[in-house]
Formats: sequence, structure tokens, C-alpha cells
Amino acid sequence: MATLLMIPGPVELSPGVLAAASVPPPGHTSPRLIEAFGRSIERMREVWRSGPSGQPFILAGSGTLAMEVAAANLVEPGDKALVVVTGYFSERMTAILHRYGAEVTEVAAPVGEVPATGEIREVLQRKGPFKALFATHVDTSTGVRVDPEPLCRLAREAGVLAVFDGVCATAGERFDMADWGADLYFTASQKAIGLPPGLALMVAGERALAARGARKAAPPLYLDWESWLPIHRAYEERKPSYFATPATSLVMALETGLGEILENGIEARIETQGRAAAALRAAWKTLGLRFVPRTEEVTGNTLSVLLFPDGVDASLLPQIAARGVTVAGGLHPAVKATSFRLGHMGYTATRPDYLRKAVEAVAGALQESGARVDPEAAVAALESGLAVPA
Ligand code: PMP
Repeated sequence: MATLLMIPGPVELSPGVLAAASVPPPGHTSPRLIEAFGRSIERMREVWRSGPSGQPFILAGSGTLAMEVAAANLVEPGDKALVVVTGYFSERMTAILHRYGAEVTEVAAPVGEVPATGEIREVLQRKGPFKALFATHVDTSTGVRVDPEPLCRLAREAGVLAVFDGVCATAGERFDMADWGADLYFTASQKAIGLPPGLALMVAGERALAARGARKAAPPLYLDWESWLPIHRAYEERKPSYFATPATSLVMALETGLGEILENGIEARIETQGRAAAALRAAWKTLGLRFVPRTEEVTGNTLSVLLFPDGVDASLLPQIAARGVTVAGGLHPAVKATSFRLGHMGYTATRPDYLRKAVEAVAGALQESGARVDPEAAVAALESGLAVPA
């Protein structure tokens, strides 16, 4: 029996994406690759809701590369950056910004919470002027989701760039890049986009590109948007081009994966994702499980970060795996030993059978650990949640 991969990325792939990724790798100037690259650029604008002025970039690398690219293009030594800390990955952003010489101010909340908007506004006013504000849309270590819209508003008011790490969110959570006035939103392929790992994906707005243009010194060559702009523009015009070899197999998969996400429009995909997450939350509650995010409002829809019940520890994970579902352990130091994480983003969120198998595996493992739970009630809660009409 194949194990279902339900960690918060990499994720299970759709048959279409798997097939697209499995063709013999095309050359970077082959007509088929050029078409896939060009279409992927166009589809990213729709998924990001960036409007025509958003500039997508498709680079070979992981999510951390996207974070590096953000810092390398936007921040110069001595610039002030504000980081909204909601978990481990916000702290990684701080570490990366330090490498680029930024003076970082963190605004943090207790684990499971989001800093108050008023506090962020106050820090923006009192400790500025800042160059950019960075926030993690959904932090994978805590499951906490920030609301990017008010943060974009604050950034606009203060004249600073608004940058969001969407690695655990893009295509799984609502994001209106153009409407909200976000300047940069980046992700990685192995999350809610539903591809194998290996692509760093981002859309930069006009202000972000202008900030790169106004730099005194150029960023490292591979990280520099200006190295990649002519190539992306050429591919979009369906012309061959070269700067550094793209991950051609993954670009083939990207064209298909974005096409599947947009099949009924991005809103429909976000809604499916939200419904799957709410149905799972109902099932976890039925099993008596508690969440690391403190309120529903700050709970991301792409993964569940759950606390072990009393008397249960990480030995639950192999018991879940023995039932055919692989989940992940805790990551944030404050809840590393006391929590586990289950990813349900991308194609997985469209598969009620996967979600049911996950609930059954967790319920069965809890029962084996001595917890008094009712697996059938949990499955019923899941199914009634999934049946909620749109
Ligand atoms: N940001 C967030 C929110 C993440 O979840 C991750 C990966 N789990 C990263 C950044 C880093 O991405 P990668 O592991 O692909 O380098």
C-alpha cells in the first residue's frame, strides 16, 4: 500500500502534473518549453491576481531561494526592514535580511497568534523610515495565517514595500495582489501549487521592480531580477532565450499544475481549499484535538498544526504512518515536542478520499495510543463539512 504524503510539502501530485513532469526533459529553447514557460507566466498572474503589471519569475530553486531573491533585490546594507513574526519561517526571513545588511525590527506575537495591526502601525511610525515590511502568509511551523490586506494598507500609508512569503499559502489562501497593493508575493512549487520541489515562484509589482532599479549595487547575478527579466519577457513573447538553464521538466509540470488550479477559476480553488480545511477542523475537534493557532481567524487552510492530547506524544506519528498516511512532526521550538503537522494543500484538498484516509489514520492511531475517540464521528464530521454547499 502506497503511503499518502500529507506533510506540509512536498505534496501528492495530480496524475496530470505527474505525467507532465515525467516527459523527457525538453531543451530550454524547444518550442514546447517556450510555450509552457510563456503560459506559466500568464497563468501565474491569474493565480496571484496581480493584473498585467505584475512580473512573474520562475527560477530553479526552493522557497528559501525565493526569500533570498526578495532580500537581494529589495534590501541594501543599512536599510530598515520590519518583519512580522508568526513562526519559524518569519525568523528565517530575519536571518536572510541580516545577511544582506538590513537593520531588522521584529514585531512578534506569542506562538499561535498574530501581532495586532495597531502595534505594527505604531512600530512603522516610531522606528522608521522602513524600506520594506515582510510577513509570512501562513507560517508552516505554527499554522498561523496573517491577513495580508491590512498589512498592505499599513505599508502603503507608511510608503514601504509589502512583501509576503506565500510558500505555504499561494494558491491555497486568498491573495489579491493588485487590489491590495502587495509588492512581492513568492512561493515554492512543492506546496499548494502542487508540483515536485524545485521551483521558486514569485510575482513582483512595479514598485518592487523600481526598488531593484534604484539600487546602488547590483545583487548577486543569479538572484538579480534584472538577469531574468529579458528571459521572462522573451518567453512570454514565445521567443527562445537563455540566461541560466531553467528546470525544464518542472516548467512543463507548472504549466499543467497552474492550468488545473485555474480550471474553474482561482476563487473556486481557494474555496475548495477552505472547505476541505474547515471539514478537517471539524473532524479534529470531534477527536478532541486542539490547534496551535489560537483562533479560527488566524488558522491557515493549507495545513493543520495540532497539539498531542494528554498522554500522547510523537510516537503517534509512526502509528499514523502504519495506517498509510505520512504526517510531519512539530517544527517551531515552542511546540516541537507537543505538536504534529498535517498538510492538506493543493491537489490533496480536492480529494475527499485522501482527507478521509487522513482522519481515519489519525483517529485509529489515537485509539491505539489509549485516547477515547470515536473515529466514525470524526469521519462523519469531515463528510458533513465537505458537503457544505458553495
Ligand atoms: N517559507 C515557508 C512559509 C515555508 O513553509 C518554507 C518551507 N517549508 C519555506 C519558506 C522554505 O522553503 P524551502 O524549504 O522550499 O526552501
